[in-house]
Amino acid sequence: MLKRWKRTEDLLGYRPKFKITCQFCKTKMVPRYSYLFPNGELVYGMVGAGCQMAYKCPRCGFHQRFNITDDKEYIEKVLALRNGKVQHNPVSEWEQDDKIKAQLTALGYFGNNR
Ligand SMILES: [Zn+2]
Repeated sequence: MLKRWKRTEDLLGYRPKFKITCQFCKTKMVPRYSYLFPNGELVYGMVGAGCQMAYKCPRCGFHQRFNITDDKEYIEKVLALRNGKVQHNPVSEWEQDDKIKAQLTALGYFGNNR
């Protein structure tokens, strides 16, 4: 699967080499989370180390996940950048979308409710 994804060498882990648009309303989807599987367990049909990238449609809420298998060395490198946390939520990318930001602010993100 890696040939369709590009390593970012940062907290996010990967970017798609293809455009991710919602299959229902054709809106550009935004990354929702990136979840690392460093230990080579069998998860979601993946064998070996890998990452699950989740995307959400800001318009209709459709959610889509992609499983990427990769070298354990790279997965562990990203995990180290995250100080050992397997999940990364790219909050700064959500902020670029007003509708998502409004939803997340209601849930208590961005510290606006203190
Ligand atoms: Zn949609």
